[in-house]
Amino acid sequence: MDSTPAKQVSLPPAPHTQHPDGAFTSPQHIRELAEKADVVTVEIEHVDADVLAQVQADGLCAVQPAPGTIKLIQDKYLQKQHLQARGIAVAPFAAVPEHPTHEDWQTLERELGMPLMVKSRTMAYDGKGNSPLKSLAADDVEQTIKTLVGSAGGNKLYAEAWAPFVKEVAVMVVRNVAGQVRSYDAVETIHKDSILRVCFAPLRVSGGKGMKSEVNKRAKELAESAVATLDGAGIFGVEMFLMPDGTSLSSLQAFLTRTLDPDDPSHPAVHVGALMINEIAPRPHNSGHHTIEACETSQFENHLRAILSLPLGSTALRVPSAAMLNLIGTSESMTPIEDACRAAYEVPGATVHLYGKKECRRGRKMGHITVTGSSDAQVRERIRPILDAMPDLAK
Ligand code: ATP
Ligand code: MG
Ligand code: MG
Repeated sequence: MDSTPAKQVSLPPAPHTQHPDGAFTSPQHIRELAEKADVVTVEIEHVDADVLAQVQADGLCAVQPAPGTIKLIQDKYLQKQHLQARGIAVAPFAAVPEHPTHEDWQTLERELGMPLMVKSRTMAYDGKGNSPLKSLAADDVEQTIKTLVGSAGGNKLYAEAWAPFVKEVAVMVVRNVAGQVRSYDAVETIHKDSILRVCFAPLRVSGGKGMKSEVNKRAKELAESAVATLDGAGIFGVEMFLMPDGTSLSSLQAFLTRTLDPDDPSHPAVHVGALMINEIAPRPHNSGHHTIEACETSQFENHLRAILSLPLGSTALRVPSAAMLNLIGTSESMTPIEDACRAAYEVPGATVHLYGKKECRRGRKMGHITVTGSSDAQVRERIRPILDAMPDLAK
């Protein structure tokens, strides 16, 4: 497609820069790309990981991160099992049988409590694949099945215990081919209806500077230890839940003991901590978009350095404070997005990024705005007029 966003920024046509025109799941096009490239990487995990493994095995090109990592992450249930088995804290979860009966749901309720977050195991993004289940009333269950499985069926589900988090936190971790690892400071991510709306860097937590650096340190450690369990080079977005009472572990302990039996040998190494991993993205991630303006090296540059066997760049913030606001479509009209961009052009420290997607749709990420400033308070002031002009999905 000529309108494809990547083509709008590509180099002038030359044999090695020509884009194969095809779906990113198409085996034929993946092979065609592999034949032209030294290294192939991904910016979405829903690709054909088996074909990527094959082209690498055939010696056509290197693939980073490892195709096995991409394949594992594609299935959120397997991803969670993998992390839990390696002692990484995750929200308690369980598989949902293919045609769940009322008894199956009751078992899940007993194991995980209520409400449940029911999720599609595969092909999920921007919350499309999540359905909160508030009760086992027939209507609620039917609605969840309808939302996630649809009439076509065949979509495998699993359920997570509801995480009563106080904040969502994310850390971008980058590892190069030689194994050098760096992580960016933790950010606060604010989702509404399972879609990321706003990201604040650095993390805002109450309890003073000491608490902030303690949570930041623990978030970075947890994210790095999770990424250490995955093969391959590149950048990884690690999404986490910060549970109530960031200072003590007691509330999380209570939450976990409700759902996990500490004597159960299948959960021997779960580290009870105030942070739990939600999921990992094996690629540049929305929680790292601010790094373009706010950090010494952007997540995109560090990803390229990582997969091209180069030393990693500094991940330090180069501004005291930043926020990233997603521009999400509310309908087919681009007008509300343009209005928010116009407001941003009036704001000092604001940078507009539009992705060049041809069609605007409700719930589609069309771009983002980054705002930097000399303090959290200044950034809060600066984003206000943009947020006021921003399309609201609730409308
Ligand atoms: P992404 O666009 O990040 O890939 P996704 O579609 O894969 O999103 P998740 O990251 O699993 O979906 O969930 C999206 C959001 O839904 C989370 O950021 C969080 O706000 C909420 N959420 C997910 N799991 C839970 C849970 N167990 N308890 C409470 N809220 C949850
Ligand atoms: Mg996801
Ligand atoms: Mg997510």
